[in-house]
Amino acid sequence: MDENLKAANLKSLADAAEALKRNGFGAKVCADRAEAARHVLSLTGKGRRVGLGGSVTLEELDLPRRLQEAGQEVLTHRPGMDPARRAQACREAQAADFYLASPQAVTRDGKLIFVDGSGNRVSALLHGPGAAIVVAGRNKLVRDTEEGLWRMRNVAAVANNIRLKKKNPCVETGRCMDCSSPERICNAVVMLWKRPRALDFHVVLVDEELGY
Ligand code: SF4
Repeated sequence: MDENLKAANLKSLADAAEALKRNGFGAKVCADRAEAARHVLSLTGKGRRVGLGGSVTLEELDLPRRLQEAGQEVLTHRPGMDPARRAQACREAQAADFYLASPQAVTRDGKLIFVDGSGNRVSALLHGPGAAIVVAGRNKLVRDTEEGLWRMRNVAAVANNIRLKKKNPCVETGRCMDCSSPERICNAVVMLWKRPRALDFHVVLVDEELGY
């Protein structure tokens, strides 16, 4: 990558981290996914219960495996679970010591935007376990909340619909149609302007493109 572009990316991430800190979040910039994974593992410690929201970013950091290898109990729902088992797995994840997820957008002034279909993920990030850790690649950094909401609908949600093989109209059009489909995955939006009082909150910004 061009050195000037690399420096500009790092400065944008560092500025966002400072803004996140002003908003009450813990924040750190990591050079790549390997450093980010090590940082998450250092935050969670050993012998703890870690709940995971569905996240391509966390998969790309290989965190489910790394956490288990580090002796953590990983609690998450998985594809193919029947509805009752899935609901139970979501409740267990929400009651863990830590909850890990990835936002759909991080604004330059330190706000976080999440979208959810079932609500389990966003509720854990509002009043869930004792601490939340969220990881975002540089591709999720946006100018402001307007651009963040646009990104959430037209980039993140569309890519996730394709990944999950949903029969929603955005899969065909490539942009959000604000559908009323029974399979709609965008039902609850949470925007964190500041850290919710009930939990510790760490944001890990990574100088790599990760997830959607
Ligand atoms: S609201 Fe519907 S059309 Fe829009 S991104 Fe979500 S699932 Fe796709």
